[in-house]
Amino acid sequence: MKICKSLEDLRQAKKLIHGKHGFVPTMGALHAGHFSLVKKAREENDFVSVSIFVNPTQFNQASDLENYPSSLEEDLAALKDLGVDLVFLPDFSTLYPDEYRFKISENDFSKKLCGHHRPGHFDGVLTVVIKLFHLMGAERAYFGEKDFQQLSLIRGMVEAFFMPIEIIAVPTVRETTGLALSSRNSRLSPEARDKASLLYEKLRSKSSDQQVLADLQKAGFDVDYVETIENRRFVAASIEGVRLIDNEVLP
Ligand code: AMP
Repeated sequence: MKICKSLEDLRQAKKLIHGKHGFVPTMGALHAGHFSLVKKAREENDFVSVSIFVNPTQFNQASDLENYPSSLEEDLAALKDLGVDLVFLPDFSTLYPDEYRFKISENDFSKKLCGHHRPGHFDGVLTVVIKLFHLMGAERAYFGEKDFQQLSLIRGMVEAFFMPIEIIAVPTVRETTGLALSSRNSRLSPEARDKASLLYEKLRSKSSDQQVLADLQKAGFDVDYVETIENRRFVAASIEGVRLIDNEVLP
């Protein structure tokens, strides 16, 4: 497994690419949700690359960025076990030689749901993703349905800019309680983790969005939104200051 930090390392390592290339972008602190993307990429491609980069431009709160978990050694060992060929570990100046002077913006869906509550979040996401796509040059990229709004905006960007890459969606991996795996879950106390499973229970319930919002507030969540769009319900809520998001197609 080649580990590349600079653009020059990456340029050299890309000479090893053969056949179909599948790419999995991540922010590290990897868990079974990320691994399901990597496994699918491994099954479907001859060459698999993963990036680990905690992208500052998509964080609208400095404390969230500062507290974002990291487990690089474990991540690299796991990716090696999964048969990954290349890991890209850029730093900010490598990915942003322009210091974020240029960005990609979307004017509609990116302003709703998480975009409404985290101004600029999706500009940061789309900008880092387009940079990574150009650098990696893969034919396919893998994204989790857990971040459905992100997935949908990335698909839209690829279409809008005629980008020669196929976006593959991977179902959300959950704990047995239903809680969607997330790097941020590691910051929850055992009590909050128990309570967090209520998010999925309520997400799938037959109650109205308003009722779900009220139920979550009553249970101690600080709720950003509960909203159903095209029969998919989206929820974002914080507990112990840890922001959790989830979504599910309604029955
Ligand atoms: P992140 O490191 O949070 O940026 O996530 C990297 C990729 O992993 C994104 O495409 C996420 O949607 C995906 N992902 C994160 N958590 C899960 C999960 N529980 N199940 C499936 N995919 C996930």
